[in-house]
Amino acid sequence: MTRQRQEVYRILMQEPDHPTANDVFMRVKDRLPNISLATVYNCLEALVQHNIIRQVNFERGPSRYCSNLQEHGHFHDSVTGSILDVHFKPGVNPADFLDLPPGALVDEIEITVSGKIAAQPNA
Ligand SMILES: [Zn+2]
Repeated sequence: MTRQRQEVYRILMQEPDHPTANDVFMRVKDRLPNISLATVYNCLEALVQHNIIRQVNFERGPSRYCSNLQEHGHFHDSVTGSILDVHFKPGVNPADFLDLPPGALVDEIEITVSGKIAAQPNA
């Protein structure tokens, strides 16, 4: 792994907030002042190709990057714009609630839920 890729990966591990390439570029410039946005894109692409990070796309938005390799979905908060990892409840097979074509073998499931988070009553 090149120094640049390491730094890009470090940024993604640091804050699991699903940054865009531009966000990563802004954050990595502290450590690598001469890095270009194109290089950041190349680093992200290489990390995705090697299954070290995941690329996540939400409608209308630029690609975002996720360092969580566990099987999980995403909750997109439409008010704040933040994207949170959501995990499947224990024992739940996410394919079970989809009416898949007969014989379908699932390789990968991508789940994105959009909405807002209502204020929680104080527990
Ligand atoms: Zn994620």
